[in-house]
Amino acid sequence: FIGFITLQTFVETMLFGMSAGFVYYYFNMAGLIIYTNWKSHQKVIGVSVEISLFIIVTIYAFFYEPSVILSDPLRLFFLILNLLFNIVGVSNSALYYVRIANEAQLKLSKLALADHLTGLPNRTAIAQYFDQLDMDLDWHKRSIAILMIDIDHFKDMNDTYGHLAGDRILQQLGSLLNSNKRDIDFLARYGGEEFIILIPIDEMYKLKEIAEGYRFKVASMPFDVAGQHVKLTVSIGAYFKPYDHIMSQQEAIENADKLLYLAKQNGRNQVCFNDKG
Ligand code: GH3
Ligand code: MG
Ligand code: MG
Repeated sequence: FIGFITLQTFVETMLFGMSAGFVYYYFNMAGLIIYTNWKSHQKVIGVSVEISLFIIVTIYAFFYEPSVILSDPLRLFFLILNLLFNIVGVSNSALYYVRIANEAQLKLSKLALADHLTGLPNRTAIAQYFDQLDMDLDWHKRSIAILMIDIDHFKDMNDTYGHLAGDRILQQLGSLLNSNKRDIDFLARYGGEEFIILIPIDEMYKLKEIAEGYRFKVASMPFDVAGQHVKLTVSIGAYFKPYDHIMSQQEAIENADKLLYLAKQNGRNQVCFNDKG
């Protein structure tokens, strides 16, 4: 396309002279070349060719009359048409590049927020979720529960079946949790074999059901490990922050972590709550 327009511009400028506006296409094409996916040296050559041709036709027009002398109205007609084409061309390219830049931006931010193994939101996404929650609900005025979920004796799984099989287990656990959570709950991979679920909730007793539900689902699911069915369990720290408890989001996560530690100490495959009610 660029070659064709360049050649056509050359011929038309030679034929009709500079004043019919064909010469603008050189600048349009030079701009287009900059945005192609050509290699840098190819772009330098391309832009140089466009500029050189522009100089050549300018010098030529200085010394020679055009081969075809257009009538004034016809020349004006071509001039306006060519100007319009160039303006539309430049605007269209600009729009196109804004669109692909936006798409790339979106893709990048998605990548930055997703855990590569499970596809779940990662830790950066948790921070973003908290910010959003703060804006939408005001963190300090809302009851919320945090589940910190950690696989029991996962190191043994890796040691027995290998690290890749361990990865597959993490993926399966990720999808199990994901398919059992409510739409408003936020699930993320917190770290290695730890997952976190943030649950906007008003009543403590509902949290019991939810957390025990997750623990039970995991314990009863056969995980596929290299063709074999393997059982595993999780320990869960379930921290309930009532709306009138003022604390930072970090503090709340730490509290859930402490409860998880307690669940491990008490023998694993269990949920520890901060509120027994
Ligand atoms: P506990 O019941 O006390 O939680 O025991 P554990 O073995 O699960 O805990 P520990 O913290 O000793 O070990 C965690 C293991 O998780 C060790 C590490 O190799 C494994 N792990 C962390 N991230 C990944 C991962 O991305 N893939 C795999 N395959 N393993 C991981
Ligand atoms: Mg563990
Ligand atoms: Mg752990």
